[in-house]
Formats: sequence, structure tokens, C-alpha cells
Amino acid sequence: MQIVCEENLDKRLLELYKQLRSEHGNLRWWPADSPFEVALGAILTQATAWRNVEKAIDNLKAADAFTPEQIHAISQDELEKLLHPSGYFRMKAKKVRAFVEHIIERPMAVMFKLDVPDLRKELLSIYGVGPETADSIILYAAEKPSFVVDTYTYRLFSRLGWVAGNFHYERLRALFMDNLPHDVNLFNEYHALIVRHGARVCKKTPNCESCFLQSQCDFFQVGSG
Ligand code: SF4
Repeated sequence: MQIVCEENLDKRLLELYKQLRSEHGNLRWWPADSPFEVALGAILTQATAWRNVEKAIDNLKAADAFTPEQIHAISQDELEKLLHPSGYFRMKAKKVRAFVEHIIERPMAVMFKLDVPDLRKELLSIYGVGPETADSIILYAAEKPSFVVDTYTYRLFSRLGWVAGNFHYERLRALFMDNLPHDVNLFNEYHALIVRHGARVCKKTPNCESCFLQSQCDFFQVGSG
């Protein structure tokens, strides 16, 4: 994956951010009550819709299995049953248990004292925590500046014509990390706005007629001749 035009990326990224914010408003993510709930959500949302994550989290709460210690104490069968709505429940139960075991040894408050590169390295060393999950935990639970990218980000920026080639997580993340001020609120809101635009407008089958980005979008320009 390459960045197509490297010129003025800082200004262009901020301009796009302002446009997205004036279209969609302030979203103020993440929908969770505690850093641990953010982390659980970040693991459970892998390859599934958020509404399924909410059902699994509600199950955990209803079963009084919502602290690291409580989750650690229940059987794997019980954990799988509670996580069933989130899909891939066997694998996710293993991931949640691995995360919980890690933070029982190294509480999140202790880990979160690390700087972003070291925290990222530690999170990535935990079974089931990939780059998107790690960056979500760093940004939305630790409230430190690590930009989160995902397939919504890739789809939007490749259609706009900013990037070309196959999705590459680290290269796409570097586009934001290298060209934006490392500001937690900006990163928080920018990622949420990209997801909102990708989920409602620039969907798999894009809804270009109602998109305010038509005039700056390669995909739309080519399609409309
Ligand atoms: S014009 Fe269409 S393809 Fe381009 S960003 Fe908007 S919805 Fe996506």
C-alpha cells in the first residue's frame, strides 16, 4: 500500500477532519463505562457488529462476571456461553481470558503508565490483541495518542484516492501518526467520524448521491465519467 500524494498531508488531513465533523457532529467515543469495558469491547468487536458486542457485555454484567477476577473465576464453558452473541465465541473466550490473566498480573493502570510505543508493544504481546485492538485500547482506554485504523479507513481513503494497493495496517496508521498532531481528542474523534461515514455513507456499496465528498473523490469522479 502506498500514499498516492504526499503533498500537504497535514493540512489535507485536518481539512477532511473538519468536513467530517461538520457533517456528522461530535461523536465522543467510546461507548463504555470503564477502561476495562473499553478493552473488552475492543477484543469482542473483532469481526462482528457492535450490537453483538453489547449483547455479550450485557451477558457478562448480568452473570456478575465483569471484573478481571470474576471472569478469571468462571469456567471456559461458561465464558463461551456468555460471549456467544459476539461470534467466534470460542476464540474470543480464549482471547478475553488471556487478556484478563495478563491484567491480573499487570493491572491496566500500571501498564497505562508506559509511553505509547512501549504500551503498544506490551499489548501486542498478549494473545488475541492485534494492532487495531491495541490501538483502540491505547486511545480509548488509556487515553493516549495512538491512531486507530480499520477497513472503514482503508475503504474511504482508497476511494478518495489518497492510498493505493492492498490494505496495510501500519502504513495506513503512519499516514495519520506522521501528519497529525498527537492529540488524543483529535485522534478519538477522527477515527469515530471515519467509522460513522463508512457505516452510513461510504459503505461497501457506497451511497455517493448523499455524500458531501463527491467533488474530491476519485471513485465517484471515475464512476460518473
Ligand atoms: S463519493 Fe462515494 S465513494 Fe466517494 S467517499 Fe463519498 S460515498 Fe465514498
